[in-house]
Amino acid sequence: MRYHQVVVVGGGLAGLRAALELNKRNVKVAVVSKVHPLRSHSVEAQGGINASLGNHPRGSHDSPELHAFDTVKGSDYLADQKAALRLTEDAPKRVREMEHWGVPFSRTPDGKIAQRPFGGAGFPRTCFASDKTGHVLLHTLFEQCVKYEQASERGEMVIYDEQIVTGLVVDEGVCHGVIVWNFQTGEIDVIKSEAVIFATGGAGRIFGKTTNALVSTGLGMAIPYWGGVPIKDFEFVQFHPTTLFGTNILMTEGARGEGGFLLNNEGERFLANYDDSSKAMEVAPRDIVARNMTREIDEGRGFEDEYLHLDLRHLGREKILERLPGIRDLAMKFVHVDPIEAPIPVQPGMHYTMGGIDTDETGASRVPGFYAAGECGCVSVHGANRLGGNSMLETIVYGAIAGDSAAQFVLDGGSGKVPDEKIFDDAKNRELARLEGMFNGGNENPADIKDELESTMNRKCWVFREENTLQEGIEKIEELRERYKNITLNSSGLRLNFDLLWALELGGNLTMAEVMIKGAARRKESRGSQFRTDYPTRDDAKWLEHTLAYYAQDGPRFEASDVDLSIWEPKERKY
Ligand SMILES: Cc1cc2nc3c(=O)[nH]c(=O)nc-3n(C[C@H](O)[C@H](O)[C@H](O)COP(=O)(O)OP(=O)(O)OC[C@H]3O[C@@H](n4cnc5c(N)ncnc54)[C@H](O)[C@@H]3O)c2cc1C
Repeated sequence: MRYHQVVVVGGGLAGLRAALELNKRNVKVAVVSKVHPLRSHSVEAQGGINASLGNHPRGSHDSPELHAFDTVKGSDYLADQKAALRLTEDAPKRVREMEHWGVPFSRTPDGKIAQRPFGGAGFPRTCFASDKTGHVLLHTLFEQCVKYEQASERGEMVIYDEQIVTGLVVDEGVCHGVIVWNFQTGEIDVIKSEAVIFATGGAGRIFGKTTNALVSTGLGMAIPYWGGVPIKDFEFVQFHPTTLFGTNILMTEGARGEGGFLLNNEGERFLANYDDSSKAMEVAPRDIVARNMTREIDEGRGFEDEYLHLDLRHLGREKILERLPGIRDLAMKFVHVDPIEAPIPVQPGMHYTMGGIDTDETGASRVPGFYAAGECGCVSVHGANRLGGNSMLETIVYGAIAGDSAAQFVLDGGSGKVPDEKIFDDAKNRELARLEGMFNGGNENPADIKDELESTMNRKCWVFREENTLQEGIEKIEELRERYKNITLNSSGLRLNFDLLWALELGGNLTMAEVMIKGAARRKESRGSQFRTDYPTRDDAKWLEHTLAYYAQDGPRFEASDVDLSIWEPKERKY
């Protein structure tokens, strides 16, 4: 059995940033990641990260308050306002820290960090490194971790990769560690710790059409949920307007920020025809653009009834090569289109889960010793919708905050409860029995269940939602949840067993899909990213509240919690 003062689960931006903070405070930390940290989804982020640096002439008046206001307004007033302000106040410091650690940000002519426009700000605030921002941020943080992994006078930093956390050790409501499946050796082990931070990323793979990597399954949210930690606001899903037709690979908003046009099959910039997008056009908030694109396709002005065109040709060769080289590569590789010469076929796709593991402003959950940060967590700074560029920001700001508060918790003596050693052996034995039990299943093929789940979510819990289709989706997911109990696996044993891995992931997929679709049906209003055709307006009197979902065997039990509205009055928004 291993012991580390704190275990961070996740080697993406949030996990690595939390680990560095713990290390800085001389706490012995281990990072556990199911893939090599550099394969975390963060590496795919393209467009950029927000901070009110005021480096662009049009944004020279920018401030953390303006940034926080845009964040709260973008969230359709569901964000907790003090948490949003903390995000934006820490932003310049955290972005400059990344710069000093070596991130090669793109530059203004006078050498400052360049900023580009992204939806919801009205002027350029998004710092970027070409269209590979996540890539360079993650590599830089990883280098910092390796530095302390190899030679550390301060604390200890260990990285375990290709090890999968399958459960928490919770005793009398306190978290004492995690259960880990070493994928390479097949061993099941417990890591004891004083605190655990989950930074396990998003859950895009419960949908078929998503920009998320295969690893973003939601299992990392389901594990604490099964252990008693509530999930907050999970009905809110951000659909990204521009994903590549066929694979749904992201075509960054930066492409529109740099001046790209969205065109229908008549060659028209159709966003001008809709009241809610006629002013900001291509850089209007993502939910608005995604809805208007869907309307356009549904009304027959798309191509093959499936997609629209993202046209970059007028930007010219030089700008495309300098600012959007990754987009060009992806378009050439996956749809054989060179954006210098032809428009890119795009359609909306699932991109981001605003909700997640419920935490407070310090990253702490309601279970002592358990913390969360990054996309898997919900502080909440994004409310019902997030601004592009705020998510990577959240990973480094709240990753550092969660690391700092877990460190403080440990240095203050932790929960004060010393668990009986027996609970660790029991937890390990229970997990072994559960996993081995999965080899003696029935006759359901997990791949069929996954396919049916994806198409259900694509059709029933998409950009436009309404009662009947949501209920049909719920019935289907309850059916899949029952069928999952009888899955059959083709290979047994715990070493490198991908069959078992995907079956475990599927368990997480199904759980999180159920929380999402039931939350969407329960919330009878339109707010932020959730558009209910049967309740097309926002209803602050009834629904200006967070959704909390608690695990129960026959599906989630819902409660509500208050939104922090202590700074700004909610203002109306048109749908
Ligand atoms: C294509 C794309 C482009 C994006 N572009 C932008 C952008 O331009 N700007 C922006 O602000 N945001 C962007 N986002 C969103 C942003 O990149 C993510 O929200 C953010 O990077 C998530 O970071 P994270 O550290 O929370 O999780 P991730 O980077 O997803 O990392 C999750 C980690 O958890 C580990 N893990 C998960 N489950 C387990 C388990 N059970 N056991 C062990 N380890 C586990 C994984 O191995 C991984 O290391 C983009 C997202 C996508 C998908």
